[in-house]
Amino acid sequence: MFENLSDRLERSFKILKGQGRITEINIAESLKEIRRALIEADVNYKVAKSFTDEVKQKAIGQEVIKAVNPSQMIVKIVHDELAALMGGTATPINLKENPAVILVSGLQGSGKTTFSGKLALHLKKKGRGVLLIGGDIYRPAAIDQLKVLGEQIGVEVYSEPDNKTDAVALVQNGIRYAKSKGGTFNTIIIDTAGRLAIDEQMMREIAAIKEAVRPSETLFVVDSMTGQDAVNTAREFNERLDFDGVVLTKLDGDTRGGAAISIHSVVDKPLKFVSMGEKMEALDVFHPERMADRILG
Ligand code: GDP
Repeated sequence: MFENLSDRLERSFKILKGQGRITEINIAESLKEIRRALIEADVNYKVAKSFTDEVKQKAIGQEVIKAVNPSQMIVKIVHDELAALMGGTATPINLKENPAVILVSGLQGSGKTTFSGKLALHLKKKGRGVLLIGGDIYRPAAIDQLKVLGEQIGVEVYSEPDNKTDAVALVQNGIRYAKSKGGTFNTIIIDTAGRLAIDEQMMREIAAIKEAVRPSETLFVVDSMTGQDAVNTAREFNERLDFDGVVLTKLDGDTRGGAAISIHSVVDKPLKFVSMGEKMEALDVFHPERMADRILG
């Protein structure tokens, strides 16, 4: 679907052949290609524009090294700038407290419950004692889904099927339960209710959960296929929740993942995980370098 950015740069750089130096004029076409490719990969227009301005600053005046093809040189600059724009290095989640409490937020359908299961498995494999809390009091199906996942990965799920009114109490009870088990659980993952769109009640509820339990880590889960909507949702969740990190899901789909750049630029919070499929193992720690490779194609 996408033409590889490296190939496009190659084409636009024919003009540079035989020239010893990158100038404002001979780089213009390439910058246009870069901007176009970023927008196609779902990077927000303004972000793409300021990004290419940055690349221009870096590139102009550079000698075209004889041994290196100029397009490769620009690709390297673009790659490094993209990685820097996404935080540069991987940022781990905070597991220092005991128990470490991880609050998982996001819209319904974003992949929140699936991610909660994946994270539980990921941490279990690292030797942690994990309890999942099913905090969606509105959709019994969501709790059932979490239970199925829990069984599949061998992680206990705390839920209160009869509690349909008080998510804060449910979560507090779940944490109390974990603490009563004498060191069995040092990690608690709370899957919360999501809505198809942001609504006030949902935001108030999750903010109240955060306030009540003071989690060590609040994660925001977002579907990478939703493009610019992902950015707006991230902004709203961040304003209300001041989350610690972003999880980008469905990267196995037909997306270049440019939303990662836009989200990072807009909310200035690190991306921490990427979810790449429906299987419980399909979770990766986010690496800016790898995402830059993917966006470049
Ligand atoms: P929630 O409503 O936010 O809890 O979302 P779910 O976890 O129920 O996920 C919604 C749908 O997306 C389900 O059908 C999942 O199997 C699917 N899903 C979740 N994560 C991924 C992913 O990384 N890749 C793909 N292809 N599907 C996913």
